[in-house]
Amino acid sequence: MYRIAKQFHFSSSHIIDGLPDTHKCSRLHGHNYIAELVLESDTLDEFGFIVDYHDLKPFKDIIDNELDHRHLNDVLPGSTSAEAIAEWLYNRARALWPQVSKVRVSETTRTWAEYSE
Ligand SMILES: [Zn+2]
Repeated sequence: MYRIAKQFHFSSSHIIDGLPDTHKCSRLHGHNYIAELVLESDTLDEFGFIVDYHDLKPFKDIIDNELDHRHLNDVLPGSTSAEAIAEWLYNRARALWPQVSKVRVSETTRTWAEYSE
C-alpha cells in the first residue's frame, strides 16, 4: 500500500452552535487551519505516483474559494467542528480522486480531527 499526504492552509471564523455560553467556542473566533489530504493506493501510475501532488490543485481551489477567509457557519450545512470540516473536505476530495482515504483538520498545532470511511 502506498500513501501520500499534502497539507493545505486556510484561515476562517466560526462559532460552535449549541454550546453553553461559558464555553469559549460558543463565541465568534477564528483559526489558522491546516487540512491534510491523505491518498492511498496499491498501484502507481506510469510516473510512479498515486496522484501527482501538482494535480491536487482542485482541492486547493475548493479551500481557497469556499473556506479561506470565510465564516464557516455560512458554508457548512451543520456543525463547524474540525471533525465536521474534515468530513466535508473528505466528501469533496473523494468525488475528485477515489484514492482519497482520509482528511485531517488541525485548528492548533496540538490537535487534529480526522474523517475516513
Ligand atoms: Zn474554533
